[in-house]
Amino acid sequence: MTDWNKIDDAVRVKPGAKVKIADLDTVRADLFADKKDAEKLAAEHALAINALQDRLFAERKRALLVVLQGIDTSGKDGTVRGVFNATGPLGVTVTPFGRPTEEELAHDYLWRVHAVTPKKGFIGIFNRSHYEDVLVGRVRKLAPEDAIEARYEQINAFEKHLSENGVTILKFMLHVSKEEQKKRLQERLDQPEKRWKWNAGDLEDRKLWDDYQAAYEIMLRRTSTTHAPWRVVPADKKWRRNAVIASIVRGTLEGLDPQYPAFEWKPSDFIIE
Ligand code: ADP
Repeated sequence: MTDWNKIDDAVRVKPGAKVKIADLDTVRADLFADKKDAEKLAAEHALAINALQDRLFAERKRALLVVLQGIDTSGKDGTVRGVFNATGPLGVTVTPFGRPTEEELAHDYLWRVHAVTPKKGFIGIFNRSHYEDVLVGRVRKLAPEDAIEARYEQINAFEKHLSENGVTILKFMLHVSKEEQKKRLQERLDQPEKRWKWNAGDLEDRKLWDDYQAAYEIMLRRTSTTHAPWRVVPADKKWRRNAVIASIVRGTLEGLDPQYPAFEWKPSDFIIE
């Protein structure tokens, strides 16, 4: 499958759909069958994304926000590397969202998020996002239940506000299986160059696997909107994950069709001595 619309259709959560996370495949061999072909395609898309980003930057009228959300080891960092490796750093921001600081906790939970949304001309990538506030927030009961409940609509309204103000939002949930997470965590112990990623705290979250899956399911059901739908990306295979996301990012940027600005002057109006 190479037509980005078809890929998008296959992974997009339709607004209001009662998705069941247990039914969502983490492999999706139907999307890209061949690893070599998918890697080649993703590399082509990465170059195209760069060319489109250059135009977006020159145009300075709109922005693209890419939200990467997924459990530990789902491949959020790897996606940034795999999809945006050819994008010039000038017009890209990558923002990781960790535990809120004291200052951030003193504000409403969207305060720190709005502050780092991409400026006009930029692609902004969120590595985790405001969705943590209905994921870890829900699972670990970091706020009263009614406060968490209210957040889904607040987030929808926030994203609608952004989208009506020139920010196109692409939300990707990187979906990995429990077995794949086990394998990836084990690699962090076994492979010296991956050991820096080891965090014993991840084991605590793994114990809460079912709770997290349930929280993700609610998130998908309640925050997949027409202005910012979720895409559930099969993430057990890194190459397929990259091919899916690169296809959708490229297709979306092509749809935006950013233009180099027009000028009232002609190059021949000037003589450079
Ligand atoms: P990562 O695990 O993504 O490589 P970190 O080690 O910095 O990065 O961890 C991010 C941690 O911060 C995760 O455990 C995540 O659940 C937590 N976190 C992110 N946002 C929030 C939030 N709004 N409230 C509480 N915890 C959060």
